Amino acid sequence: MIGSERHKRATKEWESWMIEEKEDGYFEVKTERGNYLCRIQREKDGYRFSCSCQDFTYRASKENDLCKHGYGLIIADTMNTIQIHQADSPEKAKEHVRKMTEDQELILKVDDMDEELAIKETIEGVEPLVYTIQTKEGTKHVLSIRGWIQAMMIQGNIKVDVEFEEVGGKIIAKATGVDTKHNVSISAIAERYTRDEFKFTTLASKAVRNALKKLVLPAIEQKVIEEALTAKRVIILEQVE
Ligand SMILES: [Zn+2]
Repeated sequence: MIGSERHKRATKEWESWMIEEKEDGYFEVKTERGNYLCRIQREKDGYRFSCSCQDFTYRASKENDLCKHGYGLIIADTMNTIQIHQADSPEKAKEHVRKMTEDQELILKVDDMDEELAIKETIEGVEPLVYTIQTKEGTKHVLSIRGWIQAMMIQGNIKVDVEFEEVGGKIIAKATGVDTKHNVSISAIAERYTRDEFKFTTLASKAVRNALKKLVLPAIEQKVIEEALTAKRVIILEQVE
């Protein structure tokens, strides 16, 4: 608590500490009494915090309080000496997207095809809803970018919106999807494109697709796959090792 003994000690001592920022929300705090590893990240209603010190481990954490190192870091952040980052950073989001993709090669192939489809807004003939790919585990059917949109229409009650952000000099697209029926809101990003002249179209479409992947119910996804197979709205991709 602000004004507590821990907070008072932090106010007095923090300037004498050496604070070194590590990756992923970690800070090494070097004090006269020892070095401690803290992790602090900003969240919607406060901070996510842990510290390796005795006070936090045995007392503060049980009292739902921070140790003096935590208060010190928050003060240092307020004074712009360090920066406490959001728990949900663009890097986190990218990492999350990456973890969702188990079969990277297959995903990249589909991603490239989706890019082509996103660019050609209207293609002659029928647009494929599904990619069919032979893998070691058998035949896989994966919805194309058009397939995900089809699934969105069938499911209904989904709204998507896209905005662009610059992260480390790179443009990324962030899509926010809302399922108004189930009251779920999610966001997804896209960062990969190969043709610079179409980067906005590509990124926006892929971000929407990534958001839909999280909102579309598996049963609806399956329904679109089955319909596409029946209607032969399928592109067969080469084998993936
Ligand atoms: Zn501590």
